[in-house]
Amino acid sequence: MFWDREVETLPRPELEALQLARLLRTVRRVREHVPFYQQRFREAGVDGAALRSLADLRRLPFTTSADLRASYPDGLVIHTGDEVVRLHTSSGTTGKPKALFFSRSDVNQAAELIARCLVMTGATRQDVLQNMMTYGLFTGALVMHYGAEKVGMLVIPAGPGNSERQLMLMKDFGSTIIHTTPSYALYFADFVERRGVDPRRDLKLRKGLIGAEPYSEETRRKIEEGLGIEVYNSYGLSEMNGPGVAFECRERQGMHIWEDNYLVEIIDPDTGEPLPEGETGELVLTSLAREAMPLVRYRTRDITSVVAEPCPCGRTHRRVNRITGRSDDMLIVRGANVYPQQIESVLMRFPEVGRNYLIRLEGLDEMTVQVELSDATFDGQFEHLLKLQERITEKVRAEVMVKPKIELVAPGSLPVSEGKAKRVIDNRKL
Ligand code: ADP
Ligand code: ZN
Repeated sequence: MFWDREVETLPRPELEALQLARLLRTVRRVREHVPFYQQRFREAGVDGAALRSLADLRRLPFTTSADLRASYPDGLVIHTGDEVVRLHTSSGTTGKPKALFFSRSDVNQAAELIARCLVMTGATRQDVLQNMMTYGLFTGALVMHYGAEKVGMLVIPAGPGNSERQLMLMKDFGSTIIHTTPSYALYFADFVERRGVDPRRDLKLRKGLIGAEPYSEETRRKIEEGLGIEVYNSYGLSEMNGPGVAFECRERQGMHIWEDNYLVEIIDPDTGEPLPEGETGELVLTSLAREAMPLVRYRTRDITSVVAEPCPCGRTHRRVNRITGRSDDMLIVRGANVYPQQIESVLMRFPEVGRNYLIRLEGLDEMTVQVELSDATFDGQFEHLLKLQERITEKVRAEVMVKPKIELVAPGSLPVSEGKAKRVIDNRKL
């Protein structure tokens, strides 16, 4: 099933011709209207007008999140063209947020891309989408909302949290799809179980659109089992419209990235050099259709690789593999490089483990991982728990080459955030 069959299955040569035309237009617009890019191109000694092919792209300088912050509040906006009608921000970690502007056509285009994604998962206008993402400055909820309305389904703007009310809405209005983060989905699965609700029997849920945070295949499986749904990985970032940049089709082997809207590069995060197709590195995106705030060679810091093989679903837009984390998520613990994702995927392989965990770095490079037990395990014998603790310690050590201290805690005892989960607390005194 396709929302826009023609574009989604465009033969590669035509798709690339479209990309080139849009790239040239985008570069021309930023050269004409954005002082930041005029200066950057000058500094890099490149003449944007001399661009001839997609391969020439690599001569252009990168744009980074630091550039976005430095241009806050509105340094990168183009006011010629259609009206700028919406502001979103991206929280980031410290200091000023990044401000992202949408023109009327950007709002519409973002919704179009979401519509492609939804229909690609098999969703139809008969579906009822319970949107559990945060409404507001965050792109996650609103962009999905507009796209789902475009498909013609009923959208429940539930927002995050308040599991009691989520469950009520779900029962009363027969929600068939949820849109949320992996951390909240896990938490909610737990909640539902504790309330004695059997989702397969008592709810109409069929699909989960799960994204905004990295998660592992093991976590996908836990969410699917806990809620009786099929989980589709959803990737996006505010700088590129928010959700709808890349999404899984029914094959669920990598996420199609809409290449008529985004030009994909994978670079070595240390050297900035483009990597050959299939190699893992940092995803760099150039927006091809954004009007109000186009970005050239934007460094997402997200680590992934491009799937070279064509997808059996027939879409010609290439897929990217599950994001394994951001390059700046990497922790250095006692000299070893550790991604929180690696730890998560080890933990979620244990059936005894519940649905939440927290990595604490303390003192002089000590790593403690607090791990919630599943309800069933929590009633277990003390001796049994000691063994479990040892087994988890060993598996994590083997994965990340650092021996953690594993602390088993009661189900539901770790904090749950309404927005994106905070998986790491770093209080080291190094
Ligand atoms: P913020 O910068 O406040 O986190 P964004 O919504 O712009 O706000 O976050 C986008 C980032 O979220 C991405 O760059 C990526 O790191 C992460 N992300 C989004 N979707 C996924 C996903 N499906 N898998 C892994 N990471 C994701
Ligand atoms: Zn596909």
